[in-house]
Amino acid sequence: MKSLFELRELFKKRGIPQFRANQIYQALFKSAKNNYADIHVLPKDLTEFLEKEAPIYTLKPLIKNQNKDGTTIKALFELRDGEKIEAVLMKFEDKRNSVCVSCQAGCPMKCVFCATGKMGFRRNLTYEEIVDQALYFEQELLTKGERVNHIVFMGMGEPFLNYDEVIKAAKMFNDPAGFNISFRHITVSTSGIIPGIKQMINDIPQANLAVSLHAPNDKLRKKLMPVAKTYLMNELMETCKEYTHKTHRRITYEYVMLKDINDSDKCAHELSSLLRGQLCHVNLIPFNETYSKGIKASVKNRIDSFAHILKINGIPATIRVSMGKEINAACGQLAGKNKSK
Ligand code: SF4
Repeated sequence: MKSLFELRELFKKRGIPQFRANQIYQALFKSAKNNYADIHVLPKDLTEFLEKEAPIYTLKPLIKNQNKDGTTIKALFELRDGEKIEAVLMKFEDKRNSVCVSCQAGCPMKCVFCATGKMGFRRNLTYEEIVDQALYFEQELLTKGERVNHIVFMGMGEPFLNYDEVIKAAKMFNDPAGFNISFRHITVSTSGIIPGIKQMINDIPQANLAVSLHAPNDKLRKKLMPVAKTYLMNELMETCKEYTHKTHRRITYEYVMLKDINDSDKCAHELSSLLRGQLCHVNLIPFNETYSKGIKASVKNRIDSFAHILKINGIPATIRVSMGKEINAACGQLAGKNKSK
């Protein structure tokens, strides 16, 4: 779906009255209409024009899976060129309806524990393709009187390798005429692309930043995440401190718990020293072994012990509840069986 701004620009060029753009946005976001033909106030010739020039969906839902209690719903979408991507809706008890969106088809970053990384890179998504993943869930929720109220850029792809489209999408999620989601409820998650973090400080300073760390030092991080060979830990930490200093926002560090790889007490102490004094929070992620070969998940006691060490060292930490395991919607499992051919 085009942004309201772009829709208005298109209408200006074609001599179509501006109020039509508002009517369309109202129909989409208030009345859950999902095709132009159902927006009865629009003249037929305008409907035909819009279906061609500004389609509501740039993607087609192919499969929808949900877990037993309906709190996690994963959709597989086909893009117009046949590439496939996935997005996940997570419904929390505190009324958060959070959509995890993909920003690339596949991913070039090759993190060794990640199913998406194994697909390789296919292409960047446009901002419309990013936004439409959430629009799909928004319209489903609207019929039950609910809305999407959180967005996380944590699906397939590295957001800062598709920077401009991700920022456009984030701004569209924030637009009061559309999703109307506060930047404070929008999180961009990066594997540690330093120039992207620096740009984000200027472009969307109110949004949340999550950094996938997964190791407390360069040596281990380089084995797990090739990006660590380009952006070293020292420089990454300096940039993260600059982010918190300039935005006053707490950073979330993501740390996936891999058995006998990064889950020792020694690693926990090293991580504590690395992050001491930072405005941050550590999210310990139980690993989903579904598509991994050789890499095992840390056992619960180990994760608890790791979290305990962080806490006694004054580093706030929580263990993430992995909501989508049974439908392969958990972090790093988005490619799954349905990867693009
Ligand atoms: S963890 Fe994220 S950045 Fe790394 S390969 Fe997977 S999708 Fe890409």
